Amino acid sequence: MYSIEDQVEDWKTVFLAQKGNSIFCNVDDSYIADPFNLTNLDKDIDNYKSALKLILNDITLSKIKGLHLKKIWDSACFLYGQIHARYILTNDGMLKMLDKYENSAFGTCPRVQCDQQSLIPVGIDDRVGVARVKFYCCNCEDVYEPDGQCNKEIDGAFFTTTFPHLFFLSFPHLKPKTKFKIDRYVPRMFGYKIYRHSKLHKWQERERTKAIWESISKLPV
Ligand SMILES: [Zn+2]
Repeated sequence: MYSIEDQVEDWKTVFLAQKGNSIFCNVDDSYIADPFNLTNLDKDIDNYKSALKLILNDITLSKIKGLHLKKIWDSACFLYGQIHARYILTNDGMLKMLDKYENSAFGTCPRVQCDQQSLIPVGIDDRVGVARVKFYCCNCEDVYEPDGQCNKEIDGAFFTTTFPHLFFLSFPHLKPKTKFKIDRYVPRMFGYKIYRHSKLHKWQERERTKAIWESISKLPV
Protein backbone atom coordinates (compact mmCIF):
# COMPACT_ATOMS: atom_id res chain seq x y z
CA MET A 1 0.00 0.00 0.00
CA TYR A 2 1.36 3.42 -0.99
CA SER A 3 1.42 6.27 1.48
CA ILE A 4 0.64 9.82 0.32
CA GLU A 5 4.36 10.59 0.39
CA ASP A 6 5.08 7.68 -1.93
CA GLN A 7 2.41 8.93 -4.34
CA VAL A 8 3.99 12.37 -4.43
CA GLU A 9 7.31 10.78 -5.26
CA ASP A 10 5.90 8.68 -8.11
CA TRP A 11 6.70 10.61 -11.28
CA LYS A 12 3.90 9.22 -13.46
CA THR A 13 1.31 9.92 -10.77
CA VAL A 14 2.40 13.55 -10.62
CA PHE A 15 2.64 13.90 -14.41
CA LEU A 16 -0.73 12.29 -15.22
CA ALA A 17 -2.47 14.34 -12.52
CA GLN A 18 -1.30 17.64 -14.00
CA LYS A 19 -4.06 19.74 -15.54
CA GLY A 20 -4.84 18.59 -19.06
CA ASN A 21 -2.57 15.53 -19.00
CA SER A 22 -5.38 13.05 -18.42
CA ILE A 23 -5.43 12.29 -22.16
CA PHE A 24 -2.17 10.34 -21.68
CA CYS A 25 -2.52 6.76 -20.52
CA ASN A 26 -0.33 5.22 -17.86
CA VAL A 27 2.47 3.43 -19.74
CA ASP A 28 3.46 0.22 -17.95
CA ASP A 29 6.81 0.43 -16.16
CA SER A 30 7.80 -2.89 -17.75
CA TYR A 31 7.37 -1.34 -21.22
CA ILE A 32 9.44 1.72 -20.29
CA ALA A 33 12.15 -0.40 -18.69
CA ASP A 34 12.65 -2.51 -21.84
CA PRO A 35 15.50 -0.87 -23.86
CA PHE A 36 14.11 -2.37 -27.08
CA ASN A 37 11.03 -0.14 -26.77
CA LEU A 38 13.19 2.96 -26.39
CA THR A 39 15.39 2.44 -29.45
CA ASN A 40 16.77 5.75 -30.78
CA LEU A 41 14.91 7.89 -28.23
CA ASP A 42 18.18 8.82 -26.52
CA LYS A 43 19.42 10.74 -29.58
CA ASP A 44 17.37 13.91 -29.30
CA ILE A 45 16.62 14.17 -25.59
CA ASP A 46 18.78 16.15 -23.17
CA ASN A 47 19.42 14.49 -19.79
CA TYR A 48 18.07 11.24 -21.26
CA LYS A 49 19.39 8.92 -18.56
CA SER A 50 18.24 11.11 -15.67
CA ALA A 51 14.85 11.63 -17.33
CA LEU A 52 14.38 7.87 -17.72
CA LYS A 53 15.42 7.26 -14.12
CA LEU A 54 12.96 9.91 -12.97
CA ILE A 55 10.08 8.32 -14.92
CA LEU A 56 10.90 4.91 -13.43
CA ASN A 57 11.39 6.40 -9.94
CA ASP A 58 15.01 5.28 -9.82
CA ILE A 59 15.65 8.85 -8.71
CA THR A 60 13.01 10.94 -6.97
CA LEU A 61 11.99 14.56 -7.40
CA SER A 62 13.22 15.44 -3.93
CA LYS A 63 16.75 14.32 -4.85
CA ILE A 64 17.01 16.80 -7.75
CA LYS A 65 17.61 20.41 -6.83
CA GLY A 66 16.73 23.82 -8.24
CA LEU A 67 17.06 24.66 -11.93
CA HIS A 68 18.32 21.19 -12.72
CA LEU A 69 14.96 19.80 -11.60
CA LYS A 70 13.11 21.89 -14.21
CA LYS A 71 15.42 20.68 -17.01
CA ILE A 72 15.14 17.02 -16.05
CA TRP A 73 11.40 17.33 -15.49
CA ASP A 74 10.95 18.78 -19.00
CA SER A 75 13.14 16.05 -20.49
CA ALA A 76 11.11 13.41 -18.65
CA CYS A 77 7.83 14.84 -20.04
CA PHE A 78 9.30 14.88 -23.54
CA LEU A 79 10.62 11.33 -23.21
CA TYR A 80 7.35 10.04 -21.73
CA GLY A 81 5.45 11.56 -24.64
CA GLN A 82 7.62 9.75 -27.16
CA ILE A 83 7.37 6.45 -25.29
CA HIS A 84 3.61 6.99 -25.09
CA ALA A 85 3.45 7.41 -28.89
CA ARG A 86 4.86 3.89 -29.29
CA TYR A 87 2.99 2.31 -26.40
CA ILE A 88 -0.52 3.27 -27.56
CA LEU A 89 0.08 1.31 -30.77
CA THR A 90 0.57 -1.91 -28.76
CA ASN A 91 -2.29 -4.12 -27.56
CA ASP A 92 -1.82 -3.09 -23.93
CA GLY A 93 -1.68 0.60 -24.79
CA MET A 94 -4.69 0.32 -27.06
CA LEU A 95 -6.73 -1.28 -24.25
CA LYS A 96 -5.81 1.52 -21.87
CA MET A 97 -6.90 4.12 -24.41
CA LEU A 98 -10.09 2.10 -25.05
CA ASP A 99 -10.98 2.42 -21.39
CA LYS A 100 -10.58 6.20 -21.60
CA TYR A 101 -12.48 6.40 -24.89
CA GLU A 102 -15.44 4.46 -23.52
CA ASN A 103 -15.64 6.94 -20.66
CA SER A 104 -15.49 9.90 -23.09
CA ALA A 105 -12.29 11.01 -21.37
CA PHE A 106 -11.21 12.76 -24.58
CA GLY A 107 -14.38 14.81 -24.88
CA THR A 108 -17.17 14.65 -27.43
CA CYS A 109 -17.55 16.03 -30.94
CA PRO A 110 -18.72 19.66 -30.93
CA ARG A 111 -20.63 19.09 -34.19
CA VAL A 112 -24.37 18.95 -33.53
CA GLN A 113 -25.03 16.18 -36.08
CA CYS A 114 -22.48 13.91 -34.38
CA ASP A 115 -24.69 13.67 -31.30
CA GLN A 116 -21.87 13.75 -28.74
CA GLN A 117 -19.75 11.11 -30.45
CA SER A 118 -16.64 10.45 -28.33
CA LEU A 119 -13.43 11.96 -29.66
CA ILE A 120 -9.97 10.42 -29.69
CA PRO A 121 -6.58 12.19 -29.73
CA VAL A 122 -4.59 12.33 -32.95
CA GLY A 123 -1.42 13.91 -34.26
CA ILE A 124 -1.50 15.61 -37.63
CA ASP A 125 2.27 15.15 -37.98
CA ASP A 126 4.53 12.43 -36.55
CA ARG A 127 7.46 14.80 -36.17
CA VAL A 128 7.81 16.20 -32.67
CA GLY A 129 7.46 19.97 -32.41
CA VAL A 130 5.44 20.44 -35.60
CA ALA A 131 1.80 20.43 -34.45
CA ARG A 132 -0.13 20.17 -31.22
CA VAL A 133 -2.60 17.42 -30.40
CA LYS A 134 -6.00 17.44 -32.10
CA PHE A 135 -9.09 15.30 -31.55
CA TYR A 136 -10.59 13.04 -34.19
CA CYS A 137 -14.27 12.22 -34.55
CA CYS A 138 -14.93 8.85 -36.18
CA ASN A 139 -18.41 9.95 -37.22
CA CYS A 140 -17.73 13.11 -39.22
CA GLU A 141 -14.08 12.06 -39.76
CA ASP A 142 -12.85 15.52 -38.96
CA VAL A 143 -10.39 16.84 -36.37
CA TYR A 144 -10.91 19.48 -33.72
CA GLU A 145 -8.86 21.66 -31.41
CA PRO A 146 -8.72 20.53 -27.77
CA ASP A 147 -11.39 21.86 -25.44
CA GLY A 148 -10.60 23.67 -22.19
CA GLN A 149 -10.03 20.44 -20.24
CA CYS A 150 -6.98 19.42 -22.28
CA ASN A 151 -3.49 20.90 -22.14
CA LYS A 152 -3.36 22.63 -25.53
CA GLU A 153 0.44 22.58 -25.56
CA ILE A 154 0.65 18.78 -25.80
CA ASP A 155 2.53 17.67 -28.90
CA GLY A 156 0.43 15.78 -31.43
CA ALA A 157 3.35 13.44 -32.17
CA PHE A 158 2.81 11.90 -28.71
CA PHE A 159 -0.42 10.43 -30.13
CA THR A 160 0.75 9.82 -33.72
CA THR A 161 -1.12 10.16 -36.99
CA THR A 162 -1.72 6.38 -36.95
CA PHE A 163 -3.29 5.80 -33.55
CA PRO A 164 -7.01 6.60 -34.04
CA HIS A 165 -7.19 4.70 -37.32
CA LEU A 166 -5.44 1.62 -35.90
CA PHE A 167 -7.72 1.94 -32.88
CA PHE A 168 -10.89 1.74 -34.99
CA LEU A 169 -9.43 -1.08 -37.06
CA SER A 170 -8.84 -2.96 -33.80
CA PHE A 171 -12.27 -2.10 -32.37
CA PRO A 172 -14.51 -1.74 -35.45
CA HIS A 173 -17.67 -2.11 -33.37
CA LEU A 174 -16.98 1.36 -31.93
CA LYS A 175 -17.50 3.05 -35.29
CA PRO A 176 -21.03 4.34 -35.88
CA LYS A 177 -23.00 2.23 -38.34
CA THR A 178 -23.40 5.05 -40.83
CA LYS A 179 -22.75 3.01 -43.98
CA PHE A 180 -20.58 5.90 -45.17
CA LYS A 181 -23.44 8.36 -44.93
CA ILE A 182 -22.88 11.23 -42.55
CA ASP A 183 -25.74 13.38 -41.40
CA ARG A 184 -25.04 16.90 -42.48
CA TYR A 185 -26.55 20.16 -41.54
CA VAL A 186 -28.48 21.46 -44.52
CA PRO A 187 -28.74 25.25 -44.65
CA ARG A 188 -32.22 26.47 -45.61
CA MET A 189 -33.88 29.80 -46.20
CA PHE A 190 -37.65 29.93 -45.90
CA GLY A 191 -37.66 26.13 -45.98
CA TYR A 192 -35.60 25.81 -49.21
CA LYS A 193 -32.08 24.36 -49.38
CA ILE A 194 -29.42 26.89 -50.33
CA TYR A 195 -28.03 25.59 -53.61
CA ARG A 196 -24.39 26.70 -53.22
CA HIS A 197 -23.96 24.94 -49.85
CA SER A 198 -25.76 21.81 -51.00
CA LYS A 199 -23.33 21.58 -53.89
CA LEU A 200 -20.39 21.85 -51.47
CA HIS A 201 -21.86 19.11 -49.28
CA LYS A 202 -22.33 16.79 -52.24
CA TRP A 203 -18.73 17.35 -53.27
CA GLN A 204 -17.51 16.68 -49.69
CA GLU A 205 -19.62 13.52 -49.58
CA ARG A 206 -18.15 12.28 -52.88
CA GLU A 207 -14.56 13.01 -51.78
CA ARG A 208 -15.01 11.30 -48.39
CA THR A 209 -16.61 8.21 -49.92
CA LYS A 210 -13.85 8.06 -52.55
CA ALA A 211 -11.16 8.32 -49.83
CA ILE A 212 -12.82 5.58 -47.74
CA TRP A 213 -13.02 3.18 -50.69
CA GLU A 214 -9.43 3.95 -51.69
CA SER A 215 -8.19 3.10 -48.17
CA ILE A 216 -10.28 -0.08 -48.07
CA SER A 217 -8.87 -1.23 -51.42
CA LYS A 218 -5.31 -0.82 -50.03
CA LEU A 219 -5.96 -3.03 -46.99
CA PRO A 220 -4.26 -6.45 -47.10
CA VAL A 221 -6.73 -9.17 -48.13
ZN1 LIG B 1 -18.05 14.62 -35.37
